[in-house]
Order: sequence, then structure tokens, then C-alpha cells
Amino acid sequence: HDHVYQWLMKMIEDVIVLLNTQAVKKNIKLVLDCPEDVVVYADRSQMKQVFINLIKNAIEAMTESGEILIKVEKQGDFCLISVIDEGPGIPINLIHQVKEPFFTTKKEGTGLGLMITTRIIENHNGLFKIKPNNDKGTTFEIKLPHYDPAK
Ligand code: ADP
Ligand code: MG
Repeated sequence: HDHVYQWLMKMIEDVIVLLNTQAVKKNIKLVLDCPEDVVVYADRSQMKQVFINLIKNAIEAMTESGEILIKVEKQGDFCLISVIDEGPGIPINLIHQVKEPFFTTKKEGTGLGLMITTRIIENHNGLFKIKPNNDKGTTFEIKLPHYDPAK
């Protein structure tokens, strides 16, 4: 990738500002836990689209008030980003289908968000996983190569 995205934190903060009105209406708190110096190889506008898709889905899924946590961690050569919601979760038999184009359970859904997200992450040589939480809700995990200027 040509783009080295320096301040991942700033971009996620922008997305939080963008979606906060929608979250506040449902009494949902968007919380970011991110080290300031995370640098990843990524196209800024594509990654922004990824976070809009995931956080919007999380807000739409949650029927009660609660929290959506966006957690960024360094893991060796990778940066692990998790979007953790407290929604009803995805039924285990649908977990693979949700990434398929046009799969939606919403009246006015397009079913394209997770397909586009999957494609963007793959184009960045990253990994994208969907995991049910132990108690409630779903975790969406993204792993991106951490940028090492020495390499
Ligand atoms: P859309 O949002 O237009 O339905 P997506 O590809 O973004 O399309 O999501 C596909 C489907 O996956 C959703 O309709 C929903 O059933 C399920 N889904 C996505 N995110 C979540 C989530 N955070 N919690 C529960 N279900 C989800
Ligand atoms: Mg969506």
C-alpha cells in the first residue's frame, strides 16, 4: 500500500464523532481504547469505511442501552483492532453467511457492509474474524500489519 496510516486513533475518533448522534439516541456509549502511537499500512478512506460499517452495525444491533468498545492493541508485527458490542449476537448458524453479499436481516439493509469490510481487510493483507462474546454480543476482530519504518 502507498498509504501508511499514522494516527489510527484520530481516524477512529472521527468515525465516533460521525456516529455519536445515532448512538446517543439509543443510550449507547462509544468507547475507544487505543495507544496513541499505532501506525498501520492502510488506505485511510477504506479503513474509515470499515469502521463506519462495523460501528453502525453494532449500534443497529443493540436493542438496549450499553457500550460499544473499540479496542486497539499491538501484537508483534500486527495491530489488533476489536469492535465489541453488547447486542443480541449473531446466531451460530448465520456467522458465516453474514459476510456474503446481500445477506441482511434488516428491513432496509443492503447486506453489503460486511462483504465490503472483508474485501478491504483482505486487500490490506489483514485478517477479519467474527466471534461471539461469552456473555452477550459480538466481537469483530481486525488484524493489520503494524508499520515498522525499519523494514
Ligand atoms: P446490513 O447492515 O445492510 O444488513 P451487513 O453486511 O453490514 O449488512 O450485515 C449483514 C447482517 O449481519 C446484518 O443484517 C445482521 O443480521 C448481521 N450483523 C452484522 N453486524 C452485527 C452485529 N454487530 N450484531 C448482530 N448482528 C450483526
Ligand atoms: Mg451494515
